[in-house]
Amino acid sequence: MSDKIVRAITSDGAVMAAAITGKEMVETARQLHTTLPVATAALGRSLMAASLMGNQLKGDENSLTLQFNGGGPLGKIVCVADYRGNVRGFVENPFVHQPDKYQGKLDVGTAVGRAGSLTVIKDLGMKEPYVGSVPLVSGEIAEDVTSYYAVSEQFPTACALGVLLDRDQSVSAAGGYLIQLLPGADESTIDMVEAAVTAFGSVTTHLQAGMTPEQMLHQVLAGFEVEILDQSEVAYRCTCGRERYRAALLTLAAEDLKEMADDPAGVELQCQFCSKSYRFPQYEVKEILADRLNRVQK
Ligand SMILES: [Zn+2]
Repeated sequence: MSDKIVRAITSDGAVMAAAITGKEMVETARQLHTTLPVATAALGRSLMAASLMGNQLKGDENSLTLQFNGGGPLGKIVCVADYRGNVRGFVENPFVHQPDKYQGKLDVGTAVGRAGSLTVIKDLGMKEPYVGSVPLVSGEIAEDVTSYYAVSEQFPTACALGVLLDRDQSVSAAGGYLIQLLPGADESTIDMVEAAVTAFGSVTTHLQAGMTPEQMLHQVLAGFEVEILDQSEVAYRCTCGRERYRAALLTLAAEDLKEMADDPAGVELQCQFCSKSYRFPQYEVKEILADRLNRVQK
């Protein structure tokens, strides 16, 4: 079954929510990056967070980047989503062994680390992207996303994300939700959301039982009249291509390009998001260098 995001609003217009099932995208990431379990969970939660956040963007050229830099053994985690919620991402050290928090519970927080920050970059097609950064709270991803919205965007938010693995380390279920109080939400609304979220309990338990995004929304917004706004299929999708890498080479310093052009082996670049390799033979690197020098003269 393909991954899906469903968005809803309460009929009083006070609360927006979105829920995702992301088993396929997380499993694709696991296979592309051959991640070990704690990295699968950390990257998987981050991908789904980026997907939910990207899905809120309006324009088709818009994109959103999440960077977790927690100082833990996993290193940096980077995820990029388009405006539909299609995502790609990588974790710097995918082969980290992290002792479980307790039996069967991956210690994502320790593996991500708590000493750094979460940075959100929204490219909204303006000259400058919007950049917001907050210190990490727990490194558990969902809590950090909640804190980002509270601190950086002043949006009271509840977020939960879960990734479940099989015995063979493949992904058996993944999903979560994001709830946001809109301006106009009063105290009683906040109390109702808190009560519903508490009653909902662990997202992983529900995912294990095969809960759909619609069912998740109705339960985390229990007590409200829920209007489903839309739903979108989302997937792990890399947008790399040879032209992009050629263009990237063209932005390098002339000195560096000169050095590369001297290498008879040419240049090989590998996409961090999908591991695809792009080879540029020496004659082509020389052409790029010539283009580069031409530009300087103009
Ligand atoms: Zn790629």
